[in-house]
Amino acid sequence: MTTGTMQDWPLNVWKLIDHAAQNHGTREVVSLTCEGGVDRSTWGSVRSRAKKVAAALRRYGIRPGDRVATLAWNTHRHVECWYGISGMGGVAHTINPRLFEEQIAYIANHAEDRILFFDLTFVKLVERLAPNLKTVERYVLLTDRAHMPADCSLDLVCYEDWIAAESDAEPWTEVPETAAAGLCYTSGTTGNPKGVQYSHRSNVLHAMAACMTDTFAVGARSVVLPIAPMYHANAWSIPYTTAACGAKLVMGGPNFDAPTLQKLIIDEGVDLALAVPTVWLSMLQHLEKTGGNLGKLTRTGIGGSAVPRSMIEAFDKLHNVRVMQLWGMTEMSPLGTIGSPTPEVAALPYDRQLDYRVKQGRGIFGVEMKIVDDNGTELPRDGETFGRLLVRGPWIVGSYFKGDGGQVLDADGWFDTGDVATLDAQGYMHIVDRSKDVIKSGGEWISSIDLENCAVGCPGVAEAAVIGVPHPKWDERPLLIIVRKPGAEVSADDVRAYLSDKIAKWWMPDAIEFVDEIPHTATGKIQKTTLRERFAGYKLAA
Ligand code: ADP
Repeated sequence: MTTGTMQDWPLNVWKLIDHAAQNHGTREVVSLTCEGGVDRSTWGSVRSRAKKVAAALRRYGIRPGDRVATLAWNTHRHVECWYGISGMGGVAHTINPRLFEEQIAYIANHAEDRILFFDLTFVKLVERLAPNLKTVERYVLLTDRAHMPADCSLDLVCYEDWIAAESDAEPWTEVPETAAAGLCYTSGTTGNPKGVQYSHRSNVLHAMAACMTDTFAVGARSVVLPIAPMYHANAWSIPYTTAACGAKLVMGGPNFDAPTLQKLIIDEGVDLALAVPTVWLSMLQHLEKTGGNLGKLTRTGIGGSAVPRSMIEAFDKLHNVRVMQLWGMTEMSPLGTIGSPTPEVAALPYDRQLDYRVKQGRGIFGVEMKIVDDNGTELPRDGETFGRLLVRGPWIVGSYFKGDGGQVLDADGWFDTGDVATLDAQGYMHIVDRSKDVIKSGGEWISSIDLENCAVGCPGVAEAAVIGVPHPKWDERPLLIIVRKPGAEVSADDVRAYLSDKIAKWWMPDAIEFVDEIPHTATGKIQKTTLRERFAGYKLAA
């Protein structure tokens, strides 16, 4: 072998923010804060303050490889901590505050977090958690002196005071590009959450891929709002991606309600915003009610759950906003596919284009995909045959933190996503279901996702969930659970009539139940486990 003669330039995440500060130093980083105001910062300032975080952590005695946790919303301070922790060789462990308290304690102990940075919102939560956090030595509250609580039982460090004492002149800590930079736990719907430890290299490669035209197509003139939280698979890389290209970064802090986000989108001139479908569902309802608009927004990135056709159409027709469907997972940093059209698809009539846009999208360079049957034999890419979806690539998990779950790759290095999907000749991937949610009826499969997405198109339906319930003859049959839009009177017969010409006859749900609310997981997905418990023993007519 002859070695190439190019430079070895390790892909460290701090190079992203160095680039942003040097080339886009005055470009804004705007956050709604937990104190209630708006903070207007810049990439230059975020880098300088991140360096101070790094210096404070070094002075305290954090060593490369140590885990430092955050329990925080998307704000400039959280971004500073993120870069500061990995910039001194530490591992930034983003904890999802929406997990059950026992799960938070479990993952903080499992990660052996030494320091916890947290937002004002979580003071009471952290007070309750602290007796069970076995390894946390220091609690740093992400605020200034004026907002420090007077009556907290913990010995709190004030973030602004802590970093004010430091200089931003110390160089970043040189660690190999393969060193761990971040840690994020899956939400553990089955068993304990498992940790995915991102490397500097995986995060930088993933951020570069995210900038590409057929991915997020962002650059120095873009204004991007990640509503997806930093604790949900790195806010889909946006705080890295925007640094790589010098885009303006806008963050909503603790706010997820439609009126606040709409105002932020308009005020800051956001052109791309990214969130899970449930967030956009409330936004569309809010806009319908108020007749409001979305300012300069031209695109949304939607992923985490399947995007209903009706949502894509509503954004197109009512708001002139293009939906880009994303699919991925915590184990994939998270990006796997995105729905940018091929020239052939772009040339189709609108309705035919939609048939492709409801699919999860095409693989981004860096993500290999294949579908296999239960024996591991590869299945054809014909858009119809479905099988277990396997993935391989430089930002896809190789093993879980501390080896949990054992060997997760097969002999050829493929990771099983737990999703069942089709692939077609143009590279489009379509998720049929999560393998544990698919409804097995008379030896055939019914996609709960397709049924749900069809049902939410029915007038008067706000949200829909489908679970399989035992059936004496067919093994399992679908039960459709619906939340009506406020004031709507849609009936089970209306829903059946709506579905009748849109789905195969044998897919028709055997029963339809109306509820006030459908439970969601900590990452905004429909919580099927809770629905299955609630409807356990549900009797269908034979
Ligand atoms: P969690 O921790 O909530 O499981 P992840 O975001 O890692 O969070 O979940 C990944 C899973 O979410 C995928 O395996 C897939 O089942 C589902 N998912 C993500 N994006 C989509 C999408 N666009 N359509 C359908 N399912 C999706």
